[in-house]
Amino acid sequence: MTEMDLKGVRRRKSFPNGSNKKAKGYRSGSEKEDRSTKKEKFECRLVKYDDLPEYLKDNEYILDYYRSEWPLKEAFLSVFSWHNETLNIWTHLGGFFIFVALTVLSSIEAPEVRGLLSCLSRPLPTPLMMMKKNISDNLFPDFLARHVSRPSSLHVDGGGLEAIPRWPWFVFLVGAMGCLICSSLSHLLACHSQRLNFFFWRLDYAGISLMIVSSFFPPIYYAFFCNPHARLFYLTTITLLGILAIITLLAPALSTPRFRPFRATLFLAMGFSGVVPAAHSVALHWNHPQTFVALAFELTMAVFYATGAAFYVSRVPEKWKPGAFDIVGHSHQIFHVFVVAGALAHYAATLVLLNWREGSLTCETGGSAN
Ligand SMILES: [Zn+2]
Repeated sequence: MTEMDLKGVRRRKSFPNGSNKKAKGYRSGSEKEDRSTKKEKFECRLVKYDDLPEYLKDNEYILDYYRSEWPLKEAFLSVFSWHNETLNIWTHLGGFFIFVALTVLSSIEAPEVRGLLSCLSRPLPTPLMMMKKNISDNLFPDFLARHVSRPSSLHVDGGGLEAIPRWPWFVFLVGAMGCLICSSLSHLLACHSQRLNFFFWRLDYAGISLMIVSSFFPPIYYAFFCNPHARLFYLTTITLLGILAIITLLAPALSTPRFRPFRATLFLAMGFSGVVPAAHSVALHWNHPQTFVALAFELTMAVFYATGAAFYVSRVPEKWKPGAFDIVGHSHQIFHVFVVAGALAHYAATLVLLNWREGSLTCETGGSAN
């Protein structure tokens, strides 16, 4: 939508006065006006930062195009219209749909998906070749290709092969989808009222904590598959850290703009606590190249998350030119894109580890148990 279109939206507004409270008073005073018409006019109203109630003032460098105390239905439908939250909603809603697609595809065992993602780390045969090779597993010595031609996990059979559980992988997928949809809903509906504003930003922080904790499940589970004590210790620790973070973030004071750096630091600290199990895993599986491939993806993820957090805290670029990035290009949108990119890099890392485990047959042959 262009600047002119937005001005068109403004022209339809019913209350020329910028003050929201005054607008409300005006509304209740005009009894002759049809109620539904008023509602319709109200829904089209975008206001400036200075006209916002205090609780909606979050970023003083975004000057305009705010939805202020819109009715729920209108706020919900505003997902399809332009305002300063539109791209915040869609960057994470888009990410949500990507993860839904990945979950569905991995549930139905589409070999192309794994083949495609596996290509990121090393060349693989084409899907057509994979289908041919499917006829005979034994022709597939490569750990990734071996998985592609196999069912979802190794089976417990007379030979004593261990099944590789998929649930930790789905914990991450559900956590990522939960975080992304909570974030989209928060950006969509938090403008409705003070009560919903408080509720949704807490939900958003809980969603981020959930995603961080759930992200730890597959890499720790698969990297320490043959080390149950280390696995239990790391998973318990990160889960407790996540619960602590959620409890801390539920404190109303901590959701204010003043605590933006604190929130970013808390989330980053949770994420970077993964350095310890990562270093442990490298020490255990020094001779398995898959560990390093997964690590490279995890480092990419860390760079994405850290860059995103830097934008989130610094509020660049809108800080440099207030008002110029109200609709497109402000820091929170950039932060969202980096979050989705980081989650996808993590997805690729977990895929490498899962494929490695499923191709390792047993802890004795490929698991580096100790
Ligand atoms: Zn957000």
